[in-house]
Amino acid sequence: MNDTASDSAAGPAAGVRWDLSDLYPEPAEPAIERDLDGAEAAAARFAERYRGRVASLDAPALAVALDALEALLEPAGRAGAFASLRFAADTSAPAHGALLQHVQQRGSAVRNAVVFFQLEWVALDDARAASLLASPALSRRRHLLESMRRYRPHVLSEPEERIVEELANTGERAWGRLFDEILAAARFRVTLDGETRELSEEETLSLLYDAERERRRAAAVGLTAGLRQHARILAFVFNTLVQNKATEDRLRAYPDPLAARHLSNEIDAASVGALLGASERAFPIVQRYYRLKARLLGLDTLLDYDRYAPIGEAHSHVPFDDARRIVLDAYRDFSPDMAELAARFFERRWIDAELRPGKRGGAFSASTVPSVHPYVLLNYTGTLRDVMTVAHELGHGVHQSLAREQGLFEQDTPLTLAETASVFGEMLVFRRLVREEHDPKTRLALLCGKLEDAFATVFRQVVMTRFEEKLHAARRSEGELPIDRISALWLEANAPMHGDAVRLTDDYAWWWLYIPHFVHSPFYCYAYAFGELLVLALLRRYDEEGEAFVPRYLALLRAGGSQAPATLLAKLGLDVTDPRFWDGGLAVLEGMVGEAEKLAAAARPEA
Ligand SMILES: [Zn+2]
Repeated sequence: MNDTASDSAAGPAAGVRWDLSDLYPEPAEPAIERDLDGAEAAAARFAERYRGRVASLDAPALAVALDALEALLEPAGRAGAFASLRFAADTSAPAHGALLQHVQQRGSAVRNAVVFFQLEWVALDDARAASLLASPALSRRRHLLESMRRYRPHVLSEPEERIVEELANTGERAWGRLFDEILAAARFRVTLDGETRELSEEETLSLLYDAERERRRAAAVGLTAGLRQHARILAFVFNTLVQNKATEDRLRAYPDPLAARHLSNEIDAASVGALLGASERAFPIVQRYYRLKARLLGLDTLLDYDRYAPIGEAHSHVPFDDARRIVLDAYRDFSPDMAELAARFFERRWIDAELRPGKRGGAFSASTVPSVHPYVLLNYTGTLRDVMTVAHELGHGVHQSLAREQGLFEQDTPLTLAETASVFGEMLVFRRLVREEHDPKTRLALLCGKLEDAFATVFRQVVMTRFEEKLHAARRSEGELPIDRISALWLEANAPMHGDAVRLTDDYAWWWLYIPHFVHSPFYCYAYAFGELLVLALLRRYDEEGEAFVPRYLALLRAGGSQAPATLLAKLGLDVTDPRFWDGGLAVLEGMVGEAEKLAAAARPEA
């Protein structure tokens, strides 16, 4: 539907498909079955050997047990990774969905067979745990074991944990899948140039970036109408999942709706509060930019559907090979090693970039298991935003490649550090493009694009977090919420950021209905703001320290999730527990707005 994708149906990256045979060569099913059978048998043997005995293990025996646990879980993880990647590559094949469901259920069985281990470890008294953790035999596992104990006040008994895990397949996971399937199948009637077309959610949303205001307005109207059509079911999914969380939080004795997320992010509520507060105090930066944008677009009032209108060139046609070169060159400027790691994704077919019917929308990098390597999926249409997506996902890919050495349990970081290398990679590409560009108008277009991305990553996510706080609080005190009530909370949360610089239309009130994070991972959003502001601070370090920064940065990536984020960042001289930490990154954004104002004045002296 995008005219940028018109080269062929598969788009400018036609033929760029991944090769999943490093996970399983086809036919995969027999090998997957063997791996799952093996994992289940190993889990049973593990239970036979250790059940009821964890408290009596000494440090070396505990280390042996953890090695065994890691080894038995890896094949189940490999099977899970393959099933979800093959499903993402073509969601329309019934066999792919069925395999995914099958592998999830068998994965639950394996996890349930060994869940006793964690529960018994967590039940140990603090003094005994501390003396074991002091042993050098457990030095490699110390963070993992300590991390498990954070959940001590919140774990249930073994039979209860097993019931929660099994019922989740037909409870919260099933509700989440219903939400995905409704939106994936939804068609939005959008009238463009007098002709009404039925568009997917992704096609409709991408029209909000169109240069013509009438087309953006049509997309906004069509999106709203489509969402309203499904609002009853979607709002029911929201209400159900919010209440499901309230129930689980009560059973697990979490004091408030954010507490479980903070715990898994290894961050305290005060640090998150400082991040949210600092960002809110910086809302005037957003409004200042939107006023500039209204002037650049020649509009009296910026409406919600004008926020992503392009400044300057509407479409750019970047062939996929150019995107590859741009990204690898920018990475190489920073570190040749990093560029080499990123280049492997293209050379060894670890990336799937072409457009195909049935392929999942959006983009991601999957870490899979440490014995294999990450895979990247994206839908490349040739815009500058897509080039940034390549930079972003390869950042994840490099991070995950380097962190493989931490093993299955600690290769993945908490959400708070998950967006570090991706956003950093984007910034490297952005800075190189700006450096090479001499036309002030194009420089301004690049800068505006970057600012809008950064605003979406920082301030919009803060707004979404505030909305979720209101939503969960209201559901707990008022019971099942009518759609109007949720829409009112959404507008209430959005008002402070937009101020009088953007007028939010009545349509906008409905736009909470399609945000997947609210459904799949409550309170995920603040991690994006954390990541973006952290990266701006890292870039300042790089500018100050030059080459010396590079190995320290790569060491941060290599560490994966092996230590708490604050501990890892302290090694680079960053203190994320300092409430003023966030002001540094926010000042960079303010500087970029000033720069855009200057470029705008230079490009159009009469304005
Ligand atoms: Zn990302």
